[in-house]
Amino acid sequence: MFAVDLVTFSAILLFGIFVFAGVVRWYYDRRDRLLVDHRRYRTVFYCIRCGKIYSRARRREVSVCPHCGLENTRMKF
Ligand SMILES: [Zn+2]
Repeated sequence: MFAVDLVTFSAILLFGIFVFAGVVRWYYDRRDRLLVDHRRYRTVFYCIRCGKIYSRARRREVSVCPHCGLENTRMKF
């Protein structure tokens, strides 16, 4: 058995806690990414010509307005 002073023990304990927290965070981030259904995402657009708000499936930057045909960029919140 070897002797460990309090500072070394605390450093090892903190390092272990950080590594454990990192692994837990990685696991839950990965699980959330796998469980999310990307088909349910909708992107909201506001037409600057006719003033209508409409949405399209999935995430996209531009979309054509179904009412007047103008291409609009997505709304950013
Ligand atoms: Zn429009």
